[in-house]
Amino acid sequence: MSSRGRTVAALSAIVLTISLMPPAAGAAAAQPAKAQPAKAQPAKAQPAAAIALGDAEHALIRFRLPSEAALQRLVAEGADIAARPRTSAGGAVLADLVVDAAQLAALTGDGAQAVQVIQREGDTAGRATASPQRLAADTLQFLQAYWWTTGGRTFLQTQVATTAADDPDVEITVTWTTADGATGSYQLVRFEDSGEYQYHYAVPQPLPAQITPNSPIQVVATSSLGGKSRTVTPAVWPNATPPALPSGYQKDFVEAYMTPADIAARIKRLKRQYPKLLDVLNLPNRTQGYRRTAVAYLGDPNVAAVVVDSVKFGDQGMNGVQVKTVDPGTADQPLSAAYRDRVLTVKLATDAGGKVISSTDDVAAFLSAKYPRQFRASVEAGSAGLPMPVAGPVALDDGLKGTEVSPKPWTVQALRIGKVRDGSKTGVLAYSQEHAREWATPLVTLEFAERLLANYATDPATKQLVDSVDIFVIPTVNPDGANYSFNDYNFQRKNLVNHCTGTSRDPRYRDSWGVDVNRNYAVGSYFDGYVGGSANCLSGTYAGTAELSEAESSNVIALAGAHPNIKFALNVHSYGGYFMWPPGAYRADGRVTLPRPSIDESKFFLDSARRIVGAISAERGTVTWPSYTGPVADVLYSAAGNSADQLYYDLGIDAWDFEIGNDIWNESTQEWEGVGFQPPFDEAHAESQEYAGGLVELVRIASEQPRP
Ligand SMILES: [Zn+2]
Repeated sequence: MSSRGRTVAALSAIVLTISLMPPAAGAAAAQPAKAQPAKAQPAKAQPAAAIALGDAEHALIRFRLPSEAALQRLVAEGADIAARPRTSAGGAVLADLVVDAAQLAALTGDGAQAVQVIQREGDTAGRATASPQRLAADTLQFLQAYWWTTGGRTFLQTQVATTAADDPDVEITVTWTTADGATGSYQLVRFEDSGEYQYHYAVPQPLPAQITPNSPIQVVATSSLGGKSRTVTPAVWPNATPPALPSGYQKDFVEAYMTPADIAARIKRLKRQYPKLLDVLNLPNRTQGYRRTAVAYLGDPNVAAVVVDSVKFGDQGMNGVQVKTVDPGTADQPLSAAYRDRVLTVKLATDAGGKVISSTDDVAAFLSAKYPRQFRASVEAGSAGLPMPVAGPVALDDGLKGTEVSPKPWTVQALRIGKVRDGSKTGVLAYSQEHAREWATPLVTLEFAERLLANYATDPATKQLVDSVDIFVIPTVNPDGANYSFNDYNFQRKNLVNHCTGTSRDPRYRDSWGVDVNRNYAVGSYFDGYVGGSANCLSGTYAGTAELSEAESSNVIALAGAHPNIKFALNVHSYGGYFMWPPGAYRADGRVTLPRPSIDESKFFLDSARRIVGAISAERGTVTWPSYTGPVADVLYSAAGNSADQLYYDLGIDAWDFEIGNDIWNESTQEWEGVGFQPPFDEAHAESQEYAGGLVELVRIASEQPRP
């Protein structure tokens, strides 16, 4: 009992004296009650003291009751029994009750003995502010704390959340310490997504070279508001290692970047070589093909021009068609046109004085109306309402530079690998190059496929996988875009279908046309109000005209839908070094994600991810960061209408996404450096090797699952 307790007691109307009971087992467990433990004496050393309460005061008091029957009576009367401590050795019955002064008097009158004031009404406020955590304006919590060693260098990565979430100026510092006393610190940066605070983080931090991998590291976070986290011991990441490859294991099957034609040739060769283990599936929706409409400016776009565009594709006889405007040279002529011998001649209108009076708008509207099956014309942006110049002839052209590429619609192919390919085995789908410019991604899926085929005859572990799993691989989902990326514009992301109308068809935008295949799926889409897709046909994330409007996206869903044994899928993208799973999208309003996986599913995703990340790192020590391993919507961004979400939510497939091409640590600059979509081939080759290993590990995980 504290001195403050006695001060309060002096004001009390009811004072009763108790003799302190001997420290029996039950009583000894009770701690000094008040908020000033520094002044409290051990219970046994205290003198007898009065327990008293003010008139309206309540307190939590431990009573020694005369009998078990007395306790039962209290229970029957509905007394506020907060706890019932162990009966002491002497047979006493103890109970902790919240009582007021009158109840205390009644109980003592009834033979109960108050032995300890555990807590008085009003104590809590002082106790709360006495806590050092609460003295600060914020509290801090580690969301992630991991370390790993690669290339002889140990890295540490942490994420910390502050309760001062709305204060953009809070600075958080993480300080690490090793068992042998080395220490250092680094700043975190605030991460907001869709306008909402998520956490503070830093990219993996290198520890000094002498820090050995086995040194226990501890971290603590402090904030500029005075907050301080608990001290945390980071865990080892990913802490999973795949089985060692047997000697003689064959790998390294990619020698160069591969165009869609190269990929088709490789598929053909694999089919010839491994007919018993492989089917080649032609997916049902042929693409548009490497084609564009033929187009030209009629006039000077810097002065006044009309964009004339063919309705058919350039390769369908429209490349080379000529267009010109002429001054009829006589008065009072109407606007007219003639199309013969592959020349479109537009005769401009004149007034009574013989002056040309047609505007750009007149010509564009006239041509589109007169030749709806041959031409569509639009006014060049900036040329609206201007006099139409006498111009041409100019030749329409599709502008495609890949003269060796077939313009025909493309049949997208899938490999199906397995000893038993009748749907009775668990299926795994790996697909790549939804995004055209991600050149290294088909190398991953083809390397993966060929490892399974080539090692089947000699490696028992591979044989076991191929015997027990039904593996589907689409190396290039978006071959038309890939051809454009290889031949015309290397940053082409989308497919080659141009849904633009009006001035957006101006050929100056030719590198911005197309649909983002991985925003064109039917779950959590732009059309459903999710974030990360666009209605602008020139946007890099243009979602198309409707869900599954494109052949490319429809093919992925058609394959997965036709093979319900597929339970796992991996969508291979580049770059950045991410490993992700659903949900992949949220609504802007309130950042509401698609439904979160259950706790069990989330655990399966993370446990499997650690194994796959471990397998990736086995190749050359590339560690996918823990902060980049998790749901898409949390670690990357919202990607409305992405394929993994449709596979997961519509088809019940555990659907993952790789972003291959992890950042590389530059020891001399002490910075992480990006590798890009089309790194020098040596880097792309290394990515193919490490991520093919990750895909094999996914097949191993699938082989451990129950049959479909
Ligand atoms: Zn991508």
